[in-house]
Amino acid sequence: MTVKSLVKMSLTDWDGKVSAVVFMSGCNYRCPYCHNWQLVEDPDSVDDVDWNDVLDYLESASGWLDGVVVTGGEPTCDPVLPSLLEDIKDKGLPIKLDTNGSVPDVIESLIERGLVDYIAMDVKNSYKKYDETAGARVNTDDIARSIELVRSLPDHEFRTTVVPGLVEPEDVATICTYIKGTKNFILQRFHPENVLNKEYSEVSPPSDEEMDALVELCPGDIPTEWRG
Ligand code: SF4
Repeated sequence: MTVKSLVKMSLTDWDGKVSAVVFMSGCNYRCPYCHNWQLVEDPDSVDDVDWNDVLDYLESASGWLDGVVVTGGEPTCDPVLPSLLEDIKDKGLPIKLDTNGSVPDVIESLIERGLVDYIAMDVKNSYKKYDETAGARVNTDDIARSIELVRSLPDHEFRTTVVPGLVEPEDVATICTYIKGTKNFILQRFHPENVLNKEYSEVSPPSDEEMDALVELCPGDIPTEWRG
């Protein structure tokens, strides 16, 4: 089992909803700014959570929880994901999935089977800088296909972490061309604390003014906000 943590109640992980958050370990990327690097690089150092205990909790809280967020790590890399989502659905709870979009076949299957209600997909950077940003070799055709799939879901968001020196204004403008048609684009401010690549601990986060300017840069038909 690869479920490593349960946050029993969150007001911040699914906009406007009271959610429980399930963290899964493992990821095919190594984003230098990753904050969940322990789940990515050294999952064995984190104890597993008993899935039956999670389900018991969801059962007891199903009267007041609005939904469950499944995050990681990268959940779509784990073959157990569909059965976990089925278990959550059996409790009558809507599901938000966080994903890096690298496995479109899984995303397509989950949408077809009605196992996800909301998808938040990272679009890490313009395609020419994707490998550097993800810290891995990325097939950007897969990213483009996942963007199409996620955009077809009425409830979704695309999000990009703004890392100075790595994700520049021209990259944000390029990302907007990839996600055209979306109604929800989130720019996340990079934070240097507790990151995977310690060199990034020295990078200063963008200012409020810089984040505002990036939002302004995005076309008016792509509703955009920044967070963090
Ligand atoms: S996609 Fe990147 S940021 Fe997300 S869990 Fe994997 S390494 Fe961390």
